[in-house]
Amino acid sequence: MTFPSDISASLLAKAVDQSVDGIVIVDARQPDMPLVYVNAGFEKMTGYSAREVLGRNCRFLQGEDHNQPSIEVMREAIKHGESCVVMLRNFRRDGTMFWNEFNMSPVKDTAGVVTHFIGVLKDVTARVEMLTHLRQSKLALQNANQQLSVLALTDGLTGIGNRRHFDEQFQALLSMAQRGKVSLAALMVDLDHFKRYNDLYGHQTGDDCLRRVGLCIAEAFQRPGDCAARYGGEEFAVLSIGMSAEDLRQHAQQLCDKVRALNIAHLDSSYGVVTVSVGGVARIPKRDTSAASLLKLADTALYEAKQQGRNRVVIS
Ligand code: GH3
Ligand code: MG
Ligand code: MG
Repeated sequence: MTFPSDISASLLAKAVDQSVDGIVIVDARQPDMPLVYVNAGFEKMTGYSAREVLGRNCRFLQGEDHNQPSIEVMREAIKHGESCVVMLRNFRRDGTMFWNEFNMSPVKDTAGVVTHFIGVLKDVTARVEMLTHLRQSKLALQNANQQLSVLALTDGLTGIGNRRHFDEQFQALLSMAQRGKVSLAALMVDLDHFKRYNDLYGHQTGDDCLRRVGLCIAEAFQRPGDCAARYGGEEFAVLSIGMSAEDLRQHAQQLCDKVRALNIAHLDSSYGVVTVSVGGVARIPKRDTSAASLLKLADTALYEAKQQGRNRVVIS
């Protein structure tokens, strides 16, 4: 290799010494490859003076932290006389850690024999910490987004799915039922004489009652392929895929009985306790069957149940 005539050896030495990067040279021919040169940048970065470290192997920079994958990469490069770039956790003289992006290359004599290695140390701690911070912020954001989308689909009062969740599930289950040619059941569940309940016991007690009935409905329909949601006010809606009209009748009747068995006093109802009316429909949907048309059938059946005296099930 040749240099322009105005680049003297002493200029080269001065330039290397004054580089802001740490620069080290180790002797590859001596046992344990001791440091034979460190520049001022190294001294500043690590807090060690040249006098303290010359003659020693570089590994003191690792402190007790010898279990780093990068160290093995470096060993392999040294063994094969190759260059490498690795990220190391290193420790300054005062014990503080810094991330060292270490760039190591062999220096060969005219016969091609490796006589030395030159290493360039870059303190990239600020960059690594910023990236770690960014990664953590991203994770926190993802978590917050996840919580938000759960919240967006949850009814605040009862904790079960809300109408938006129900509508989404309805579309998904409907097309599944259409493709698989299986039955899809939809139920509307409405509390009986709930206005009177509020008038008699107060809105707060009304809310408690809605919570208990909502939970009861969700428990009754919790198989995969079921969906129970608060549809609005004192009305709940349920979907169940793969349920025939006869199964639905039975399940809906059980639900009706369970709500009644909650035994929530309602002295302004002829039943003496809180009851629900249920309207339902179950069928294999045709290609052009819409969620709205199924809901309308369930709603008409619910109206029928109310007309017939409440606390009962009518399946369309
Ligand atoms: P029906 O048996 O015919 O369904 O009679 P109803 O009184 O239950 O029906 P109506 O639609 O006349 O009244 C519904 C009542 O539900 C009115 C309202 O005060 C009550 N309600 C709706 N949403 C809430 C709620 O979030 N909390 C409470 N406490 N009450 C509610
Ligand atoms: Mg009602
Ligand atoms: Mg209602």
